[in-house]
Amino acid sequence: MKALIIEDTVTSATLVCHSLGRMGLETVHARDGLAGIESFKRERPDLVLLDIVMPGMDGFEVAQRIRQLEKDGEWTPIIFLSARTSDEDLERGIAVGGDDYLAKPVSEAVLKAKVRAMQRIAQMRYSLLVLTRKLDEANRELTRISSFDGLTGIANRRTFDSTLLREWRRSARVGSPLSLLVIDVDCFKQFNDAYGHQVGDECLKAVARSLSCSTRRPADLVARYGGEEFAAVLPDTDQEGAESVAEAMRRSIEELAITHRHSSAAPVVTISVGIATTTPDRADDGGFVSLLKCADQALYGAKRNGRNRWNATVCGDLVTPA
Ligand code: GH3
Ligand code: MG
Ligand code: MG
Ligand code: MG
Repeated sequence: MKALIIEDTVTSATLVCHSLGRMGLETVHARDGLAGIESFKRERPDLVLLDIVMPGMDGFEVAQRIRQLEKDGEWTPIIFLSARTSDEDLERGIAVGGDDYLAKPVSEAVLKAKVRAMQRIAQMRYSLLVLTRKLDEANRELTRISSFDGLTGIANRRTFDSTLLREWRRSARVGSPLSLLVIDVDCFKQFNDAYGHQVGDECLKAVARSLSCSTRRPADLVARYGGEEFAAVLPDTDQEGAESVAEAMRRSIEELAITHRHSSAAPVVTISVGIATTTPDRADDGGFVSLLKCADQALYGAKRNGRNRWNATVCGDLVTPA
């Protein structure tokens, strides 16, 4: 522990330094306020003992400046040293940022007791800081867990829902088209049955990676909707644009070339994609529900037509369910 003594009277400073030295503290001495502030910046002490009456800058101002130098969360205990022990001085000393007050001549026993007390508070503050950091980290982890899918690492249903609502409102405000893709792995039950759940999980991870790589715009979002279903929100994207993204996704999954001997669609794992596009209505805040329904219906169409394909609907005359 390092203590900075800011004191113009050399005899008093020497005494205090000796006492602190005997307590095992490292000491640095400054002879006036300005030198004290410089030492504070350079040495970053754990404790400051500060004389009040000094030529030039007095102790009150030094304390104020030290408090301004400290960053958020930092705190260095300041103990005032003075022959003056009036109530007003004590009050002012605390008001400008001091923590305690010692009357000169300084008694070694009292100095020792006060330093110990400050050490204890500093230790508690440090523990609190460590705890706060751990809490911040835990909060960040919690946010991550609640936003991303545990298996594939991409956005989860929750993130998808909030993104869709946000983009629905934004598109309605600016009058731009919004597209939605619902993506489903073909004959995935047979895949699991034939190759096992673990291989199924690995397949879903690879599919998620490929789907994410198939979108290029930063505003596009690909999420795991649940099970072997994925969904994508494509803001500022018309039907033609959505179709090209869906085709890119379809091709990228086919090109993964994951063997699937029991699929009715192809000898490899494939996906079917339902596309729905609309320009959201400002008056219809719940309209995204119908958009989802539309995309789902389009998906069923793609499944009916033989899988490993996309199918699109334009949802112009959507009616929001009551
Ligand atoms: P379709 O082509 O019509 O989509 O048929 P399908 O077999 O893919 O669809 P179905 O909904 O009948 O089955 C989905 C299967 O996906 C059920 C389950 O075995 C599998 N599945 C869902 N979630 C997971 C998962 O997290 N891991 C694994 N390994 N399999 C999953
Ligand atoms: Mg003095
Ligand atoms: Mg499904
Ligand atoms: Mg499926």
